[in-house]
This record gives sequence, structure tokens and C-alpha cells, in this order.
Amino acid sequence: MNQEVKSGKILSPSTPWTDRPIPSIHVPDAKETIKATFTEPTIECPECHALVTRTAMSFNAYVCPQCDEHLKMKARDRLNWFFDQVKTEMGQEFHAKDPLHFVDSKPYPERMKDAQEKTGETEALVVMQGTIKNIPMVACAFEFDFMGGSMGTVVGDRFVQAAEKAIKDKQPLICFAASGGARMQEGMLSLMQMARTSAAIQKLKDARLPYIVVLTHPVYGGVTASLAMLGDVHIAEPKAMIGFAGKRVIEQTVREKLEEPFQRAEFLLDHGVVDQIVHRHALRDTVYRIVAKLMNVS
Ligand SMILES: [Zn+2]
Repeated sequence: MNQEVKSGKILSPSTPWTDRPIPSIHVPDAKETIKATFTEPTIECPECHALVTRTAMSFNAYVCPQCDEHLKMKARDRLNWFFDQVKTEMGQEFHAKDPLHFVDSKPYPERMKDAQEKTGETEALVVMQGTIKNIPMVACAFEFDFMGGSMGTVVGDRFVQAAEKAIKDKQPLICFAASGGARMQEGMLSLMQMARTSAAIQKLKDARLPYIVVLTHPVYGGVTASLAMLGDVHIAEPKAMIGFAGKRVIEQTVREKLEEPFQRAEFLLDHGVVDQIVHRHALRDTVYRIVAKLMNVS
């Protein structure tokens, strides 16, 4: 019987065996090589480009198992991972308004709608109350994918509500910061959130309750200039970029080339801006130990 090979050549029984294809070797054609190897959704590590399945990544708290790079973590995933048990979510009743009728490349309400569809969140800050072991806490996390984690009125509202809830229930407040700064679409109103959140933190301090900030990659602008730098303890994740103005803006102002690791967590630790750099796998435990010490819980 004749057999067709990839080259299109027809083999007859008289074809010498040296010309016949080796049956155990499969030569893939171009189309087959493009096909993905994984059937499960994968995430590519931005550092080492390893393809890791989403499940493996989530079990590893979104730390690359190959190179230890700390990948971005969604706010909701972050809080669900942080707490042993979530009691409630807060701040869902606040909705953004468009007082300036702001339009850049598209109107602000349309931009909001796109961000909500992209992230599945209603705003850039998620607040939950829950427990780690025996300590109840209030924690909030910024969703960076929601308009760059920018701080508008709703983020301010939610943060203040979180601080007030912490004071009312005599619990510590933990903040996972990741933001590009104030939300320019809300103009002056978003800048006012810097003062509002700072005042709320002062009330927490007056009530002698701990406020712990975890700086994740990246934290910039108005958020750095307010709630992210007012913690009792500042913890940063490895290699997180933290600053007020961006590196390029500073380079243009001082007319000097700023080399790595400028604005990295490691650089800031050397200069006394952050207290500790903690690997994500040790983060929960570290926060728990600090809070237990400050709240005098054994
Ligand atoms: Zn990696």
C-alpha cells in the first residue's frame, strides 16, 4: 500500500527503506508549532517569561515559581488571600459622580464603565473586614487595573469608612497600596481626598490603633503623598517602585540620569523610607506578628 509523507512524495513498496520516514519521529508542521502547549490558562512572568498556569500562580500567591518575581495581585484576590476568614465587604454603596463633566479621549463615565467591565470592581479600592487567626482587622487594597488605582472621591469615601469602622470596632487598619496617584478626572475633589484620608488616619492614631501600610508595586503621586506614607509601620514588597513623581520627570528636572535601583523598595529601605521589605509568602505572618505586638495580643 502506498503511503503519503509530508513532502507529498508517494512511497511505493519498492522504495528503499533508507528513504522511508522513521515512524517514531513526528515532524510538526508550522501550524502545529504555533499551537499552545497548555490547555489551562497561563500567565507569563514579565521577568523570566516563564509560562505558569493560573492555578499554580494563585497557589503561589502570584509569585513566579521560577525567578521569585512578585506579580501584580488583584485587590480582591489579595484580601481573600490575606484573611483567614472574611466577615464582610464594605463601601459598596458609594458611586462616583462626574462633577466636572470631564472628557479626555473619552468621557469620564465611559472610562469608568470600561474600568468596571475590565476589572469586575465598582471602584479602585476594595475594603473588607475579617480575621487572621484570633485577630480581627479591617483591610483595604487598591486595584491597580482600575484606572491605575487612582484615588477619587469614592476611594476616599471607602478609606474613611474603613478607618471609622476600625475605630468603632477597635481593630487595626491594614492598607495594601498600589496606585498612580490622584484621579485627574475629578480634579480638585480627588486632591481633597489626600487631606480627608490623612485626617482619618490621625483619628486612628488618636484611638491608639495600628495602621500598617504594605507598599506593593507601584505607589506614586497623591497616594504616596498621603495615606501610603502615614503608617505606623511601612512594609514593602521586593522590587516595588515607590515615589512621588516618576523617575523620568525627576530626571528632566534635576538633569541627571538616575540609575537603578532608584525608587525601588530596596533603595528606599537603605534611605529609611520603608521599615522592612518582606517576601509575599511571609507577609501575612509579618503583619499578624506586628499587629499582635502593637495590640498586645498573645
Ligand atoms: Zn519569573
